[in-house]
Amino acid sequence: MERRSFVHGAGLAGVLAAGVAPAVVHAQTALRWRLTSAFPKSLDTIYGASDTFAKKVKDMSGGKFEISVHAAGELVPTPGLVDAVQNGTVEMGHTAPYYYFGKNDAFALGCAVPFGLNSRQMTAWNYDGNGLKLMREFYSNYGFISFPMGNTGAQMGGWYRKEIKTVADMKGLKFRVGGFAGKVTSRLGAVSQNIPGGEIYQALEKGTIDAAEWVGPYDDLKLGFNKVAPIYHYPGWWEGGPQLDLYVNQKAYDGLSGEYKAIIESAAAYAHTEMQAKYDARNPGALRTLVANKTKLVPFPKPVLDAAFKEAMALYSEVSASNPAFKKIYDDYSKFRAESNLWFRFTEARFDSYMQSVKL
Ligand code: CA
Repeated sequence: MERRSFVHGAGLAGVLAAGVAPAVVHAQTALRWRLTSAFPKSLDTIYGASDTFAKKVKDMSGGKFEISVHAAGELVPTPGLVDAVQNGTVEMGHTAPYYYFGKNDAFALGCAVPFGLNSRQMTAWNYDGNGLKLMREFYSNYGFISFPMGNTGAQMGGWYRKEIKTVADMKGLKFRVGGFAGKVTSRLGAVSQNIPGGEIYQALEKGTIDAAEWVGPYDDLKLGFNKVAPIYHYPGWWEGGPQLDLYVNQKAYDGLSGEYKAIIESAAAYAHTEMQAKYDARNPGALRTLVANKTKLVPFPKPVLDAAFKEAMALYSEVSASNPAFKKIYDDYSKFRAESNLWFRFTEARFDSYMQSVKL
């Protein structure tokens, strides 16, 4: 298929002039596209993936394919990103798919659902399982094609003014939580609050909310949540490995040469790897800083995790019963999750827990 696109894109004459690969590159049309990010520029890891992607595309195309990257709200507000890519207002968007679960709960499966896949597993499901294929089939209803472009890794459970000691402590908790996860926390009695990143600090400081989760030490430290809430619970069981996606308007994509399509795929894959690497490399130092500044790290008690797990599984059964798109993807997703955990428990989990138990 790529070979055919290559021939089509380069023109048969160019291909027949054997050995003139550079001529193929020069045969490309100069393009200037726009990419809207769902994130503010201040988040250099998650927003930065778009900059990395655009730079790679430019470099790989010899400067001919230029993509201007726009922060959330500059061209399109985050909630309008899917519509903007679908309508061709912008050619591309970079976002956390679960923001759009209001359109269809199946969006969440392209990003993270409570007690879902971790980062490694999500990449495996996408690149070598049925994940990307199934999500693209679903996204075709919205007129765009997706590429995995970043993962934060497992997130923290967020900032709490008071420690969560029992399941009952979740009742009435005014909790800012991202995306689809609110459907599970509300089943535990929490009052889910949908507050944009830039407004969380004030809400937590004023006590308008009791708790808030964002990402992990590196991003959370930047936003200063440690100054307004002392307890840092872990893990973020609703985001074991949230994936960010690049959405590309299907018509615009179809009009590209095979070379440009391959460049987009490769640049997105590079940015995908780089984002996770940045989080993994930067989170430890940020965690040290937080702890040195009196943040109290507290694991969620197991009964809280168990109650949340039970509610999450009940939710997936309910959504699957009424939503065929969700069911089709979730059936495959949950099978992959079971198989992958069967394997990881022998290797990564054992190795990691040993390494983390010894003095290094
Ligand atoms: Ca989060």
